[in-house]
Amino acid sequence: MYDVIIIGGGPAGLTAGLYSARSRLKSLLIESPTVFSQAITTFHIENYPGFPEGIGGFELIDKMKSQAKAFGLEDTFGNMKALLRQKEGWLVSLEDKSYESRAVIVAVGASPKKLGVPGEAEFCGKGVSYCATCDGPFFRDKDIVVVGGGDTALEEAIFLTKFAKKVTIIHRRDKLRATKLLQERAFSNERIEFAWDSRVIGIFGKSGVEGVRIKSGVRGQGSGVRDGIDNALVKNLKTKEDSEILCNGVFIFVGLTPNTDFLKGVVNLDGSGYIVTDNEMKTSAEGIFAAGDCRQKSLRQIITAAGDGAEASFSAQRYIEGLTKG
Ligand code: NAP
Repeated sequence: MYDVIIIGGGPAGLTAGLYSARSRLKSLLIESPTVFSQAITTFHIENYPGFPEGIGGFELIDKMKSQAKAFGLEDTFGNMKALLRQKEGWLVSLEDKSYESRAVIVAVGASPKKLGVPGEAEFCGKGVSYCATCDGPFFRDKDIVVVGGGDTALEEAIFLTKFAKKVTIIHRRDKLRATKLLQERAFSNERIEFAWDSRVIGIFGKSGVEGVRIKSGVRGQGSGVRDGIDNALVKNLKTKEDSEILCNGVFIFVGLTPNTDFLKGVVNLDGSGYIVTDNEMKTSAEGIFAAGDCRQKSLRQIITAAGDGAEASFSAQRYIEGLTKG
C-alpha cells in the first residue's frame, strides 16, 4: 500500500510528488498517457520565477519530474477509471491495474473546452486544433483564426505568428480578458488582426478547413482595435450580418473543463466540475486532496498549481500521521 498516490503529472502533481517523496512517504505519481498538462504544451513560459529568460513548458515539466524522482517518487502511466473507498484508504483504479493508498492527491488539471459548433469535430486534426505548440508548424504562411480572448488565446496567437501569414483573433466581446502585457504585444503585432463582438457559428471546408462562419454584433468602443482590420469584416460587424473568414487553421482557446468526471459522487464538485477544497486542499472526502487547475480557485497559473501541490502534500502527510497515531 502506498502512503500517497498523486494523480496527474503537471506542475501541481509533480510538486506534490516532490514534497511527498522528501517527507519519506511512499509515493506514486500516475500520469495519463493521453491527457497532457497545459504547461507541457506551452511553448514558452515567462511568468514562472527563477527563469529570467523564460523556459519551455516541456523543459520545465521535465526538470520538475527529474527533481521529484531524484527524491524517490515512483511514477507510472494510466487513465483513471474510479476512486473507491476501502477499509483503509482508497483503491485507485486505472483501466488496466489498480493501487491502494492511504491518501490520494488529485491533480488532474483541465482540458481545452470545445466550441460546440458544426465542423469543429469533423475538422479536428484537419485544421482545427487546441494546441499551438503541437500544430502551429503545419500552418507556415497560412491564414489562421484563433478563437477566444483570454491569456491562452493571446499567448498562442502571438506564438502562431512565427508561422502564419496572418492570425485573426475572433472574440465574442470588445474587451479582452488576457493580461495587459499580452494585449499590448498582440495589438502591436503586425500579423494579428481582431474580429470583435463575433462568434464562430461554423467551420467549413472539404478535406481540410477552408474558413469559419461568424455572427457579429455591433463593433465595440474603446476596444483597442488596431487599424488594418479587414474592411469587409468591419462592414459586417456594423450591419450584424453573418460573414466568413477564409483560413486554413482554427485554434480554439475558449477556456478549460476540469478532468474530473471520474470524481462525480466521490468528492464535492462545483457547477463547472471543479473540485471544491478548503485552504489546506482537503476535499469533501476524507483522505482525498486536490491541487492545481482541477480545483475551484481564482488564479490558474503554474506557480499557483505548484503552491497547491506543496500544500496538498503537507495536508496529506498530517492526515497520514493522524491515521497512524489513531
Ligand atoms: P479563460 O481565461 O477562461 O478565457 C476564455 C476566453 O474564451 C474568454 O475570453 C472567453 O470570453 C472566451 N470564451 C469562453 N467561452 C466561449 C465560447 N463559447 N465562445 C467564444 N468565446 C468563448 O481561459 P484561458 O485563456 O484558457 O485561461 C485559463 C486559465 O489559465 C486562466 O486562469 C488563465 O489566466 C490561465 N493562463 C495563464 C497563462 C499565463 O499566465 N501566461 C497562460 C495561459 C493560461 P469572455 O472573455 O467573454 O468570457
